[in-house]
Amino acid sequence: PRPIELLKAAQADTAEHKANTPVTGAVVHWFKMDLRTTDNTALFCASQKAQAAGVPLIALYILSPQDLEAHLTAPARVDFMLRTLEVLKKGLAELDVPLWVETVEKRREIPSRIMELMGEWGASHLFANMEYEVDELRRDAKMTRLLGEKGLVMDMLHDTCVVPPGRLTSGSGGQYAVYTPWFRTWVRHVHENLDLLELVESPARNPESTRTKFAHLFACPIPTAPKNKSLSKEDRERYRALWPAGEHEAMKRLSKFADQAIGKYQQNRNIPSHPGTSNLSVHFASGTLSARTAVRTARSRNNTKKLDGGNEGIQTWISEVAWRDFYKHVLVQWPYICMNKPFKPEYSNIEWSYDMEHFNAWKEGRTGFPIVDAAMRQLRSMGWMHNRCRMIVASFLCKDLLLDWRMGEKYFMEHLVDGDFASNNGGWGFSASVGVDPQPYFRIFNPLLQSEKFDPDGEYIRKWVPELKDVKGKAIHEPYGRGAGALASKAGYPKPIVEHKGARERTLAAYKRGIDSG
Ligand code: FAD
Repeated sequence: PRPIELLKAAQADTAEHKANTPVTGAVVHWFKMDLRTTDNTALFCASQKAQAAGVPLIALYILSPQDLEAHLTAPARVDFMLRTLEVLKKGLAELDVPLWVETVEKRREIPSRIMELMGEWGASHLFANMEYEVDELRRDAKMTRLLGEKGLVMDMLHDTCVVPPGRLTSGSGGQYAVYTPWFRTWVRHVHENLDLLELVESPARNPESTRTKFAHLFACPIPTAPKNKSLSKEDRERYRALWPAGEHEAMKRLSKFADQAIGKYQQNRNIPSHPGTSNLSVHFASGTLSARTAVRTARSRNNTKKLDGGNEGIQTWISEVAWRDFYKHVLVQWPYICMNKPFKPEYSNIEWSYDMEHFNAWKEGRTGFPIVDAAMRQLRSMGWMHNRCRMIVASFLCKDLLLDWRMGEKYFMEHLVDGDFASNNGGWGFSASVGVDPQPYFRIFNPLLQSEKFDPDGEYIRKWVPELKDVKGKAIHEPYGRGAGALASKAGYPKPIVEHKGARERTLAAYKRGIDSG
């Protein structure tokens, strides 16, 4: 059975126990990737449960270094989460809700530690929002049963997507594997169920006695990053300025984008030198912003209530937020993509090159292809890369260097501040043509044409590749082929590590051989 089915079965088997177990002592909300108080389904339900029983709500966050390692979480992302926890702790304290943050080294020890804590606090009920990765669903299915056996209740809720995974089925009753018809159904479903966009209420204030009864929980410090995930002081300061943490920062960014840029999103979203996209991905990934709030806000700026009508920029932006839903739906339906397998099994036999010199040049932004190098350096510097450039560098890795897409997927997760398994896997699967609804394998980006089209004046390249800042005109896209070789060479900029036309042919042949032998 798929992991979601395991969770559903555990929920069904414990439903009666859940209905009959009285609330005692306290109710706990377990924060995961939903680090906000506003528009948070499980947090609100936990608060309601606590209020109805007249007991306090306690918030919990577990930091597991092993878990961070297993998920390849980037140090920049860990830093963002820890800073967010500081903000969250203050916000919750204003409601007299304590946030207890604990480090649990091994991830398999998380369930038993949570039960111990619940025992210490005398809590009967645990609430959390679902995470859709395989290990998380399995863990939560097991926990639901385990807590049930101990007379406790675990309530897991859908929250992270606008439309919960599993709801949308095609005419034949199956899950969609193509985005466009899925999106049409998504739009229809939301229109027919507008409550999906409604703002979920914030938690209520705890009884005053919580301050004295659980004083030690309020005093809980936010830990520093585990050793394997810590940043240098200089990086920490840079990321702090680039990605201010907390839900209020997400709302500020969302309002500014909705007021000033969303209307022109359609025209500007593909130009990496232009701040034409929302830069909200870090907030979606950490849950400092809910997808509901994002779509509701975008919709409120349109002159029609239709999600696929009115201003083109708003429509397109909503459809991008829907991509995030799409990839999570795919993950729930086809969980084997979590296991390093291509969505399309016929693409399992491609003979990839494992040329580490090429891989290192790609990682370090030294490929000799200026647009690729600019993008890879943006990633290293900001922990973020523009979507157009993510597609260009991913295509370059798989189709110019013939490197295994999983190497790129992993590297992205290790460096992205917005690293999200489903979206990252989806993006890599698309670019490498091995994923759900992918780019056909014979469609290979020409990095030079991409560069000329999306960075016509070379502004983006000059920003991120200082060696080329004095190169004039169109030579910026291909200095060695367009008369700026001497300047590039003097500045230490490398020559192209592959020749695109030959690389393209090699890749087409390798894909064809792989598919034919599959
Ligand atoms: P906007 O253009 O403002 O879009 C708004 C939001 O919609 C984004 O914040 C994001 O949550 C969602 N979104 C937009 N495009 C996509 C998409 N193609 N797939 C899924 N969701 C999307 N996005 C991540 O959040 N985490 C990742 O780890 C990630 N890895 C990627 C890897 C590759 C190879 C590719 C091609 C794309 C990847 N994306 C990923 C999708 C996309 O590049 C980023 O979401 C986007 O660049 C974030 O910038 P923004 O917030 O300004 O986006």
